Amino acid sequence: MQMFVGGRAAESLSGKRTQIVNPATGNVIDTIPAGTADDVLAAVDAAEADQPKWANISPADKSRILINAAAQIRAEADSLATLLTTEQGKPLREAKDEILGTAHVFEYYASMTGSIRGNAASLPKYGYMNVVRKPIGICGAIVPWNMPAMIFGWKAGAALACGNAVVAKPSDTAPLTILRLAEILVHAGVSGGAMNVVTGSGSVVGDAVVRNADIRHVSFTGSVATGRSVALAAAPALKRLTLELGGNDAFIVAADADIDAAVTGAVRNRFYNCGQVCTSAKRILVDAKVSDEFVRKAKAAIEKLSVGNGLEKVNMGPLNNSDQRDTVASAVDRIVDEGAGTIVCGGKKLEGKGNFYAPTLIADAAPDAVREEIFGPVMPVIVFETLESAIEIANSTPYGLGASIWTKDITTAYTAAEEIRSGVVWVNKHLVLPPEIPFGGTKDSGYGRENGTDFIYEFTEPKSILISI
Ligand code: NAD
Repeated sequence: MQMFVGGRAAESLSGKRTQIVNPATGNVIDTIPAGTADDVLAAVDAAEADQPKWANISPADKSRILINAAAQIRAEADSLATLLTTEQGKPLREAKDEILGTAHVFEYYASMTGSIRGNAASLPKYGYMNVVRKPIGICGAIVPWNMPAMIFGWKAGAALACGNAVVAKPSDTAPLTILRLAEILVHAGVSGGAMNVVTGSGSVVGDAVVRNADIRHVSFTGSVATGRSVALAAAPALKRLTLELGGNDAFIVAADADIDAAVTGAVRNRFYNCGQVCTSAKRILVDAKVSDEFVRKAKAAIEKLSVGNGLEKVNMGPLNNSDQRDTVASAVDRIVDEGAGTIVCGGKKLEGKGNFYAPTLIADAAPDAVREEIFGPVMPVIVFETLESAIEIANSTPYGLGASIWTKDITTAYTAAEEIRSGVVWVNKHLVLPPEIPFGGTKDSGYGRENGTDFIYEFTEPKSILISI
């Protein structure tokens, strides 16, 4: 595929290309341009030329364009899902969910174009104050490989709804679906230069997006380490940032919970997308009174998960890349070496081509051994004695993205929701994130919010106008 600059397919000025590999087979499925800082400059020029045109389209017309794009995404859902599975690895059913979810994201933002508004007041002695929300101009969108379509939708949908141009930088292992989505947006009517996708590495293209002084806002989703370097690199240009970083969500099962529902929820969440979701249930905290039952039932459910090529009927695909599989394997090996947990099932790479790792259950995990995020199919179960200690363990990591409490007791639910320090708390659910819900983290999980109605504060800037009388 080619990249996408000024509404047209383009080669990199470097003339070089990078291979995209199917994580289930190791086969090369396509190549993409290895972009450079000059390609980012070309995209910024195109964005600068067309952003005013896009901003001046009426809210109703913007809405129609985003609705038409969503309809086309729905029409192509099967082929987009196949493309996503082939580059990212997730089972086809999950890929289709992501594509349809992405269509819904553009429908959501289509419904918001007429609601980008500030406020007004009559100020005696001074006149009428109007605060209007203006587009920022050009917004950078840096996207990881785990949920590429959906996360691109969050960023591009919000930026476009607010009248901005977008320069997107997909991950270099899962860029293809995003390239097709950008093409769909332009065909639906987004002004060409308002939608750009520059492919290439984070250290070259991502860094150039972050440092470019004409890109006034960057929404970055990725790891904490890269988020920190993005914040430092963005500082000289005094650039606004939305940082959606890693998570290490606690999934707390109280003794009074519906254990079968909690087991189903935990297994579904933890192994969804091969465990590579920022708000996946990464640490399962279970009351000692029900922990044996929970582990026994979770083991039975995990052993039923089929693992294989996402294009076949499987429950779980491979990890997206071999580096990620190595990172997961060494995290599990370290827990075993330290005697900080007992492997109940899994705990090893699977033989053959592809980045497969067995779905893994670790019982009696020591809280300190799983302080760092494990971005893969590993479910550590930590046993707790009291709700207070569960909340303390939940808050004991540097992260603060999501958490859930499974209980039938309203006081338990309320206490956990109040006291867990995270951007989202679910009660008897986990990982439910339609675009209507504002999403983002606290502590090392980053700052700023995407979606909900809070996106307006991230993707516009206020202008106060006083009309004197
Ligand atoms: P990553 O930080 O390695 O890469 C994310 C993106 O940043 C990629 O497009 C990459 O090319 C780019 N990048 C790398 N170096 C860069 C630099 N110096 N400047 C600018 N861009 C650069 O993350 P990843 O491994 O792709 O994704 C996994 C991580 O993302 C996990 O920690 C996960 O929890 C997190 N994540 C968070 C959310 C959220 O919404 N909070 C969602 C998904 C994933």
